[in-house]
This record gives sequence, C-alpha cells and structure tokens, in this order.
Amino acid sequence: TQRPHLAALLADDPALDTNVPNVARIYDYLLGGKDNWHADREAADALVRLLPDLRDAVRDNRAFLRRAVGAVAEQGINQFIDIGSGLPTRDNVHQVAQHVRPDARVMYVDHDSVVAAHARALLASDAVTGVLHADVRDIAFILDHPDVRALIDFERPIAVVMVALMHFLSEADDPAAIIDTLWQALPPGSVLIFTHACTDGLENDTVSAATRVYANSTAPITARSSREILALFGERWAWQEPGLIPVRDWRPEPDPIPVPPSKTSFVGGVAIPQC
Ligand code: SAM
Repeated sequence: TQRPHLAALLADDPALDTNVPNVARIYDYLLGGKDNWHADREAADALVRLLPDLRDAVRDNRAFLRRAVGAVAEQGINQFIDIGSGLPTRDNVHQVAQHVRPDARVMYVDHDSVVAAHARALLASDAVTGVLHADVRDIAFILDHPDVRALIDFERPIAVVMVALMHFLSEADDPAAIIDTLWQALPPGSVLIFTHACTDGLENDTVSAATRVYANSTAPITARSSREILALFGERWAWQEPGLIPVRDWRPEPDPIPVPPSKTSFVGGVAIPQC
C-alpha cells in the first residue's frame, strides 16, 4: 500500500502542520508550557507585543477554571464535559474535581487531533476520564456520542466547561444556538462554566491587529464585548454570584502579592439554565 503523501495529510489536519500557528499551542506557550513550535511562539509573541499583559490574562483564565471547577464540585456536581480542553497542563479539570469529589468523571473534548492525542496519553488515565476528538460546532454529536453517554449520566446534574473556547466561533458558527442546545439537553441542576476573551477597554486597532494574528491560525478569533457575550445567553440562563465578570475578580483567593488589574481580560462565570 502507498503511504499517504505528507502534504495531503497536513491539508486534512492543520493541527499536524507545525508551520500553522495553533491556538492550543499558542495558549500553552503563554502559560509557560513546552508543547509548542516556532510558528506558535512567533504568533504568541506578536500578541504579547499588542497586549502586554496577555500572559497574566491567560494565567488568570486558568486560575478561574481551577476555582470554578472546585466550587462546582463543592456544590455536589461530579460529572464534567470539558469542551475545548486544550493541551494537558497543571490542574486539569479531573485533577481539580477529583480533589473535591474523588468519584468525579470527566470527558475531555477538543477538535484538535494533537490535543486529543496528548489528552489520551496524559489525562485519560483511568475508567472515569475520557477523551473525544470532536468540534463544538457539532454539539449534538458530542452530547449524543456513545463514549460521552457511557461516562456521563444525563439523569444527573452535569457541569459543561467551555473555558476560552467560544471566541474561536464566528457569528456564522452561531455560538448562541450551541449554548441553546446545551440549555435543552442538560438535566436540572446542571451548570455551564464559561469564559470568553473580552474587548471591553481595548482600542479597536489593538483588537483588529490581534484578530489578524489569529486569522492564519488553526482557529480564527472573534472578539466580543461583555454585552455581546452576555447576549449569547439571553434570558434562558442565570449567573451564579458574582455573575459574568473579569475572571480575576471571580471569587478570588487571598493574594499574598496583590497584582494590578490587567487591561486584557477574559470574562467568566457559572451559568445556570433556567426553566
Ligand atoms: N479550556 C482550556 C483553558 O482555558 O485552559 C484551553 C483553552 S485553549 C485557549 C482553546 C482550546 O479550544 C484549544 O485546545 C482548541 O483546540 C480548542 N478549540 C478551538 N476551537 C474549537 C472547536 N470548534 N471545537 C472544539 N475545540 C476547539
């Protein structure tokens, strides 16, 4: 049999092409990780020139994820579907959740084949964590997938995690419809742990230039204001206290060395579907 030509493989799967800046690897580099290549670092450095406190912002985003998963596990939820889970790093969702609820189950989902392969190797280490290679734009495929249904019980509350994901969907991808499908599918008592890059307080030129950096990456970015982000949810969702706010301010832990507020922010919160 003939081996598939490399170019054909790369055309089918941009995640394998190390010349294409990859949003999971850009994020890994900004967090101080080592799973990244030259094109990823070049794109990340260009972003940091535009947004000098971006590294703080992604760390704040990751710290929010840890606090919010911990808080939701404390509330009694022990099933998580983490969509756009990213490359494995410290304090992955199952580690945080199982610290509070040793019986917690986590299904990791990402559309990037390299992320899914890393996750299979590093995260899905036992019978209570799973990995699905899928795109959030086909949310019904994810929610109905036999592997998801085998791990997650849709008769009991579920926490869906969409952290630093939805800004990779354009208006044409209809993120509001995806959130609405979750509203319909999730059992009572479920929550959505959510963050989104936010343009509030940024110059239009800066936002446009950052958008251009992402334009040639594996997932172009759509910048949104806090008002536009809230509009994705509408009236069918309520927010746990303190609402959808800059992630650093969401139930902060006492900080031994207070840091000045960053201009570049992700907003985040825990949304609850309303009847
Ligand atoms: N959620 C993690 C966090 O906040 O630490 C990782 C965030 S990383 C910035 C975004 C992740 O979303 C990447 O791993 C990327 O591959 C994934 N992603 C982007 N678009 C996606 C899509 N349409 N469907 C599923 N995953 C997607």
